Amino acid sequence: MTEYELLKSGLEQICKDNSQKTIDNFLKFSSILLEKNKVMNLTAITNPKEVITRHFFDSLMIKEDIISSERVIDIGTGAGFPGIPLAIVCKDIEFVLVDSIGKRISFLKNVINELELKNVSVVLSRAEEYSKDNREKFCCCVSRAVADLSVLAELALPFVKVGGKFIAMKAKDCENEVLNAKKAIEILGGKLCGINIYNVVQSDMSRSKVEVLKIKQTEKIYPRKFSKINSKPLGGK
Ligand code: SAM
Repeated sequence: MTEYELLKSGLEQICKDNSQKTIDNFLKFSSILLEKNKVMNLTAITNPKEVITRHFFDSLMIKEDIISSERVIDIGTGAGFPGIPLAIVCKDIEFVLVDSIGKRISFLKNVINELELKNVSVVLSRAEEYSKDNREKFCCCVSRAVADLSVLAELALPFVKVGGKFIAMKAKDCENEVLNAKKAIEILGGKLCGINIYNVVQSDMSRSKVEVLKIKQTEKIYPRKFSKINSKPLGGK
């Protein structure tokens, strides 16, 4: 199967949008990513078909979870995952992609320009700094492979409006990590809804998405400084 065919069938399975323009955008993103990856550290995945399954399709597996949101923030987006693939297919949702590494943000600005994405903006900041002026401004916060959930919850939940949600994309076996973060999530105004294990289409990979609902406002004392969040995660002994 060619990369084009892989994208066409995977996109049909995930979102029924396998138009030429959408496929072209993913092919362009893959080529920019792999080219730039030769000179800077963006991804450990260098096989083009694995970029499609492990990065693009995996990112899109939370599409249904965000579909009713107006504004979504992706914290620790790195080379744009899950934010850019979601923005390509969810054109009516506004995405804000945050990362603390300037070179990655410059890379993303180039991707957004080349793909002519009108619904994405990028922010160079640490999440815990950016949330100071952006508290409870988003319907949904998403994040993949950034930090342990008890730490990540304190970075993520301050951004989410009451009634909104936080989706953390994790490895398949994350039950212990999630149980350990339950108390922190409650302190931050969240309610753990559950762990959904999913199979990434066109691959043999299984992963988890952890869904947290925001049920009350996060106290202004959170997030704390990162050194504190990391050394003394909320709810810890
Ligand atoms: N989410 C991407 C993915 O799944 O491929 C990138 C994962 S990478 C392992 C973690 C990223 O999170 C890095 O780009 C790092 O700069 C960013 N990061 C870590 N802590 C952060 C923080 N407190 N605020 C913003 N970005 C952060």
